[in-house]
Amino acid sequence: MATAAATLSKTPDVILVTRRDLPLACPPQGDKFWSQHPRVFLPIEKTGEATCPYCGAQYRLQE
Ligand SMILES: [Zn+2]
Repeated sequence: MATAAATLSKTPDVILVTRRDLPLACPPQGDKFWSQHPRVFLPIEKTGEATCPYCGAQYRLQE
């Protein structure tokens, strides 16, 4: 199972995350961009999708 960080390394338009990655925070912990901006938690579980207000990264929750 790919982690959010591994998926991000391919710089896709949408970053897929699983419930194992919750609570979702951007930048993902351990990611190479982890220091890009202050960490913000994204309530992706409410809608299944979330966009980071800092870097614009789009996340989608996989069931
Ligand atoms: Zn971000």
